[in-house]
Amino acid sequence: MSNHAFIALGSNIGDKGGNCKRAISLISKHADCTVLKVSSFYETEPWGVVEQDKFINMAVEIETALSPFELLEFLKGLEKEMGRTKAERWGPRLIDLDIIFYNDKIIDEKGLNVPHPHMHERAFVLAPLSEIAPDFIHPLLGKSISELFKSVDSSGVKKITQ
Ligand code: AMP
Repeated sequence: MSNHAFIALGSNIGDKGGNCKRAISLISKHADCTVLKVSSFYETEPWGVVEQDKFINMAVEIETALSPFELLEFLKGLEKEMGRTKAERWGPRLIDLDIIFYNDKIIDEKGLNVPHPHMHERAFVLAPLSEIAPDFIHPLLGKSISELFKSVDSSGVKKITQ
């Protein structure tokens, strides 16, 4: 089980924080996944299609015995199980689960790109990630998560303290 992966979570329908928590709980129930770190909740302005509700975003670090494609299949299955219907791209969604990093592996295949190709531009991914993995080095860009976070506009991102 010695692979480490980072997963970004987002929801903007219903009980958004509850949806993220439920997804993390389902990930932790998988025999081949251990959740190591969980970020705070972040309330973020929608990206892409702006006429929609704000998102709650989080990030988790897991240890896993699943291969990158097995992990992707598992996460897609969770999205389905939790009731996400095929919606418009960047539109409202019950839960969105993305693999951000898998060790320091670079994967560029049909259906799976790791590191996630847009993560370094997105404050809603970098904010929660910089909380749990500030010193992790992006394997393609050679910069730490905290450096990447400093270089994006994070005005639309608010950490929710509870
Ligand atoms: P979306 O509906 O925007 O979350 O996109 C999901 C699709 O993106 C999936 O069908 C995946 O095959 C593809 N994809 C490519 N790279 C990744 C990644 N790193 N994590 C999750 N999905 C990915």
